[in-house]
Amino acid sequence: MSKRRPLVAANWKMNGTLSSIRPLLASICKGIAEGVKAEIAICPPYVYLGEVARLLEQAGIALGAQNLARHDAGAYTGEVAAAMLKDYQCRYVIVGHSERRTLYGETDAVVADKFVQATKNGLTPILCIGEYLEEREAGETENVLARQLDAVIEKAGIAAFDKAVIAYEPVWAIGTGKTATPGQAEEAHAFIRLRLARHDDKIADQLRILYGGSVKAANAEELFNMADIDGGLIGGASLQADEFLAICRAA
Ligand code: PEP
Repeated sequence: MSKRRPLVAANWKMNGTLSSIRPLLASICKGIAEGVKAEIAICPPYVYLGEVARLLEQAGIALGAQNLARHDAGAYTGEVAAAMLKDYQCRYVIVGHSERRTLYGETDAVVADKFVQATKNGLTPILCIGEYLEEREAGETENVLARQLDAVIEKAGIAAFDKAVIAYEPVWAIGTGKTATPGQAEEAHAFIRLRLARHDDKIADQLRILYGGSVKAANAEELFNMADIDGGLIGGASLQADEFLAICRAA
């Protein structure tokens, strides 16, 4: 059993309306109140942060955002700053999700800026890294992970990882129903931890590395049993209370 407390974070992406998230959260809160060992976080769309914060009061579930601006404040129409997320009691913020990288052109440099914004403002970034299928097939997985990780270490410094979480999310497994095998995931997680240990052993050892990519109740336990997997970042399955709660219990 890992000495790191597992974290299961729900990434609702751009899903839900007030009428669907209220009953969903009520079921999740009820299930969590019955007892889970892992830490749980919910990352709703920005506009629902206030309502979710209110519904999570006393529930022992953390709040997170799915993205943040790379700047402090100013003329950036449509953007949301780290300080605003703090105002809404966010503890976590997802940074560099593959959908942001692929669909919105976020480069490694932009992701590194966002990571710095998060840590500078007392938010815990959940830094997502992962390879495309073609990169895996070309034997490039470790090079890609190293590049994505090094860009952030160079800008933020290794000490900033003291209060960070990493999510290994192979792009080919996100929302596709194709999950990495526990062996494939563990290999990537161990590589990430080793890469951080080149800078600081202690930080590498205590850092939580989540797996994300089509985690469901049926495969969560075997993934979470691996030595370097410290929980999960859950997309689709986090929109169904029973499925999400089973994953939380597996962690
Ligand atoms: C995600 O969006 O981070 C994710 C892992 O999605 P899914 O669980 O649906 O693959």
